[in-house]
Amino acid sequence: MPNVQLASYAASPEASQGRKVYEDAPPGRSEFQRDRDRIIHSSAFRRLEYKTQVFVNHEGDLFRTRLTHSIEVAQIGRSIARRLMLNEDLVEAVSLAHDLGHTPFGHAGQEALNTCMKDHGGFEHNLQSLRVVDVLEERYANFDGLNLCFETREGILKHCSLEHAAQLGDVGGRFLNNQRPTLEAQIANLADEIAYNNHDVDDGLRSGLITLEQLASVRLFSNHLNEVRETYPALGERRVIHETIRRMINTVVSDVINQTEKNIGEQTLRDVNDVRNAPDLVAFSEPMQELNRELKTFLRNHLYRRYRVMRMSAKAKRIINELFNAFMEDRRLLPPQFLHAAELEHARSVADYIAGMTDRYAIREHRRLFAVEEE
Ligand code: MG
Repeated sequence: MPNVQLASYAASPEASQGRKVYEDAPPGRSEFQRDRDRIIHSSAFRRLEYKTQVFVNHEGDLFRTRLTHSIEVAQIGRSIARRLMLNEDLVEAVSLAHDLGHTPFGHAGQEALNTCMKDHGGFEHNLQSLRVVDVLEERYANFDGLNLCFETREGILKHCSLEHAAQLGDVGGRFLNNQRPTLEAQIANLADEIAYNNHDVDDGLRSGLITLEQLASVRLFSNHLNEVRETYPALGERRVIHETIRRMINTVVSDVINQTEKNIGEQTLRDVNDVRNAPDLVAFSEPMQELNRELKTFLRNHLYRRYRVMRMSAKAKRIINELFNAFMEDRRLLPPQFLHAAELEHARSVADYIAGMTDRYAIREHRRLFAVEEE
């Protein structure tokens, strides 16, 4: 990143712990910029366009998909990183890659696939995101996956069990040694939460599943809503909502910047190694944590567990289950490119295939397998 002074404890591409397969430094861009570019060109990234978070993709063109979600995470993350003099490119790379391993149908899909895989090592979308960039993408002559820098890979692996950490090698190390990832990875993680809390409010209102009246009980929302209504009494409802959400994001982002600056100020950080040995530093203030919890509880009770969402989740689970069982019973049903894996790894190949599906592809594949009139 030319012309920008970074903090001494920012992640630096020159001090990167490197890639699994050695490559010469890229001319004209940094190592983290190269990671971001590889992520954008991956096929898993393009598929995010047709994967959903809460609403199923065909429900409407205005709702967030995992692609627009990831772009919003990158935007929020970069704003925070720039203000804190941290490496925007790394935050962007981690943000754009963080959901690559997600199954179709959001959390319902992840739960269903994890249940299917319980006797075969389980399924966890975080680990799968890492698997996509380490193994599954087939684009380059000299290596499987995208051969990303250590710092990008560790940022993608937000959390994992100690058992998995022990198997993962380098990026698993910090879970075993009780260390933190870079501040850039911590920012991407929190930006993810800020993005989905706010856009779920927006999508929830647009879908009619939640109302402004219900949101009156959520202080983070209602404080801004009242302010907007007082300042612009004649403003139409859509603009009132956007103006309110814009202010909410602003407030939360400023809170994270201020609190994180304070947390950093209490440490003696000389370089990124000091960050690794410090506690989590990127954080909400305590009052904001409380407001954030209130919003999350509201969304869980009024949006994620609502009738329409639950019905869709149940359908999604059934589709994933039936696809999994069909492929497990007869491996010849798998597309040929997934067949080369050894018999023993068959379940993992099935999980890779299903996890890579978009919502509409899963629905179509299910129909192809189970509807007699289809081929
Ligand atoms: Mg996310």
